[in-house]
Amino acid sequence: MCAQDKGNRFAKQLAEAGVQIGWPTRLVSFGPDIYQAVFAIGFACRVAMAFGGIRPGDFRRNLIYNKDRTYAFVLALGDVTDEWYANAAGAINWGFPTIADTPIPEILPTGICTYEHVVANIPHDRIVQKAVEVRGLKVQVARVPVPVSYGPAFEGERVRGEDIYVEMGGGRTVAVEWTTSKSMEEVEDGRVEVIGKDVTDIPEGSRLHFAMVAEVAGRNFQEDFEPILERQNHHLINQAQGIMHMGQRDIAWIRVSKQNVEKGFRLEHIGRIIHAKYHQDFGAIFDKVQIKIYTDEEQVKNILEQARASYRYRDARIEGMTDEAVDTFYSCVLCQSFAPAHVCLVSPERTGLCGAYNWLDCRAAYEINPDGPNQPVKKGECLSELHGQFKGCNEYVRKASRQKTQSVSLYSLLVDPMTTCGCCECIAAVMPMCNGIMTVDRDFTDMTPCGMKFTTLAGAVGGGAQTPGFLGHSKYNITQRKFLKAEGGLSRIVWMPRRLKEEIKERLEQRGEELGIPNLSDMIADETVAATEEEVLSYITEKKHPCLSMAPLM
Ligand code: SF4
Repeated sequence: MCAQDKGNRFAKQLAEAGVQIGWPTRLVSFGPDIYQAVFAIGFACRVAMAFGGIRPGDFRRNLIYNKDRTYAFVLALGDVTDEWYANAAGAINWGFPTIADTPIPEILPTGICTYEHVVANIPHDRIVQKAVEVRGLKVQVARVPVPVSYGPAFEGERVRGEDIYVEMGGGRTVAVEWTTSKSMEEVEDGRVEVIGKDVTDIPEGSRLHFAMVAEVAGRNFQEDFEPILERQNHHLINQAQGIMHMGQRDIAWIRVSKQNVEKGFRLEHIGRIIHAKYHQDFGAIFDKVQIKIYTDEEQVKNILEQARASYRYRDARIEGMTDEAVDTFYSCVLCQSFAPAHVCLVSPERTGLCGAYNWLDCRAAYEINPDGPNQPVKKGECLSELHGQFKGCNEYVRKASRQKTQSVSLYSLLVDPMTTCGCCECIAAVMPMCNGIMTVDRDFTDMTPCGMKFTTLAGAVGGGAQTPGFLGHSKYNITQRKFLKAEGGLSRIVWMPRRLKEEIKERLEQRGEELGIPNLSDMIADETVAATEEEVLSYITEKKHPCLSMAPLM
């Protein structure tokens, strides 16, 4: 601190306002004149010499050291005289930018400083954020600020029946999670808003609609990183004691326990977890994040529409890529905390079964975190083109599943199918009588024609084991060209819930055209026309479904 305003020096102004100054608060006064800023600059030089081994007089290396290692900046508060401006310009030679609250001439292009050099006219309520942003400081959140224990030990913990205070999603209400990028100006780091009812506004045992939007901004943040951050929500939220989180995107499912609400846990804390953990684990790729949580039905549905448009856009980026065109697939073992032997292999034509990760996402995730859960897997020799079996993939899966899975087919549900975990969007199952395959998504809670509800199917096959005859997959994967290739592809599908059929209708019709079955969508039965396998058989017989003349499945 130095200088004065109309004879009233900075330190005195603070003392009059009752602000403690001195070394304990790091508010150190150098004197009443602006030229005393030189003492702060001198301190920076000493840091560079003592810790960076910079020799006295080596101004160039002194600048580079301070620019890259000493995260200092100048806050110019009050009228800036020519002398003040000259001092600020001097600080630029150490890589220290100036952020002012008055309309002084700006120097915005980057060059000597990391980002802008002089930024003017910033109101006091935004000046700290702005300084953090202009200097390129990284926010560190040391502790996750929630009133319950937090850590990996609580991942996989269930919140059941009588312990539930509030439940969101899980097919009973809408629950959607969306991480999206915004401009730096639109995001206030650490801001968490709950718009609508919170747990204190509802009796225990209630259900709420839920939409969480994490708005991320960063100078180096890329749109491609959005799904990677978003997919972390599952395990990050799960690490809070007394919270159960399943699924992702628009099939999220959250339960908050009664004990948590007693301890003071509120919906805001879900946002606090996201803010803290995004910074702790991914701070290198973004600068700011704010979280908005909606519980009002109208607003949740509005977010759902926006999020779904974004999911469609992300999914479509992979369209046109083929498995043959790449020699490397990616693994994903993010779900091993729930299903310890589960390994997803993600190829351009087989998205992760949660629907949240495609090949491009895994590639970006690997670039961000080369030691993380997404690793490149060299395909190696092709062992079966029909089943999608590759030597390199088998070797990887053997190791990553700790010998639980020996070989895996990317395109088959009967021969060495990929393992399934509880996050899958859909589960496909053989219908022997129909010589076909049905699939059901998580949102369909009624009985399916295979005699099991989605939850029973997920409980039976979702633990990370191979279960021939059953396969977890994403919604998008249904219309990818390698889907169930070994069993005859999309032409084997005889039943799916109506809502799912509607959701993927456009792509389903496109694929039907490609396969020379333009009315395929109409040939696939749903719950409105068939509830049992017999009824499915009679429906598809009437519609002359192609699977009836295909080779026997079993
Ligand atoms: Fe990764 Fe597969 Fe889990 Fe999705 S379902 S997060 S792709 S392991």
